Amino acid sequence: MAVTGSPELLIVMSAHATPEEVEHVVDRLAEAGADAHVTPGREATVIGAIGERDALAALPLEGYPGVEQVLPILKPYKLVSRELSPDPTVIEVRGRRIGDDAFGLVAGPCTVEYREQTLETARAVAQAGSTMLRGGAFKPRTSPYTFSGLGEEALTILVEAREETGLPIVTELMDPRHVEAVLEHADVIQIGARNMQNFTLLSEVGRADKPVLLKRGPAASIEELLMAAEYVVKEGNARVILCERGITTFERATRYTLDISAIPVLKQETHLPVIVDPSHAAGRRELVLPLARAAVAAGADGIIVEVHPRPEEALCDGPQQIPVADFPDFADEIRTLAHLMGRQIG
Ligand code: PEP
Ligand code: MN
Repeated sequence: MAVTGSPELLIVMSAHATPEEVEHVVDRLAEAGADAHVTPGREATVIGAIGERDALAALPLEGYPGVEQVLPILKPYKLVSRELSPDPTVIEVRGRRIGDDAFGLVAGPCTVEYREQTLETARAVAQAGSTMLRGGAFKPRTSPYTFSGLGEEALTILVEAREETGLPIVTELMDPRHVEAVLEHADVIQIGARNMQNFTLLSEVGRADKPVLLKRGPAASIEELLMAAEYVVKEGNARVILCERGITTFERATRYTLDISAIPVLKQETHLPVIVDPSHAAGRRELVLPLARAAVAAGADGIIVEVHPRPEEALCDGPQQIPVADFPDFADEIRTLAHLMGRQIG
């Protein structure tokens, strides 16, 4: 039977349920044409059941051995909701972690412009203890007359930077035609703010075997961001990192308005890690550190910041990039604040 419904039920197993009892529930769900998402929690295993409402209703789930409770999932987002997984999701890439007690410091140039610019930045951010390296190969630009990235050539430069520094690389995927190239080279696939509701692209990366960094659209609500993440997770890719990067408001003093409240709200609503991009929100480098501090204090699981050896020469987003020379102090301060919040840089 085709699964056309949405996940409807949360089946909470008792703390003492055996793996066989969990399997039994999953098998019965499968027989009813439903899909089961098993989340082993610290306290108990939770099974999210996706399927036809009527088929699910016909199962005597509460009577199965090991089942403690059966609850409807009331939120429109299901698989990403806190209800499904009370424990935080930790994303691990090449031994680097983001989520729970691991704070992600992702840093690097806005755009891969040329080999030396990227390598110099990569060395500096690695030296300062960053978790991952960012760098755009395919750039979404407001004006079609501006530099839109080196494309596949940039991917090979990023790979060289990873080989030298060991840092996993995060880069944006804009077009399904580049999926293969980006998947082959990147460690984390970034879906940019402008593509947050590109549903075919979301489903595409949902079938990929790489974590996804999903940025909030500048005009998207928190619920829309979570629904976008649901598109990815629904396809089977549970490794999604959410990113608040500022929203459009009437305010003109900053490039966007960083929605600090999105951090605690998201942390309440989802088990996925939530990071903050103070660079694009601010648009001005002198605001990046204060906004990053606020993000750490509000409970973010990480930040992603733009760093350039000579921002005044940058081909994209120069005013908001932190000079390489200033990055060690920046990283030290973030590390200290993260410690205060009970986090280690992952
Ligand atoms: C970026 O991170 O390079 C970027 C373009 O950000 P956003 O999609 O948030 O505008
Ligand atoms: Mn940028």
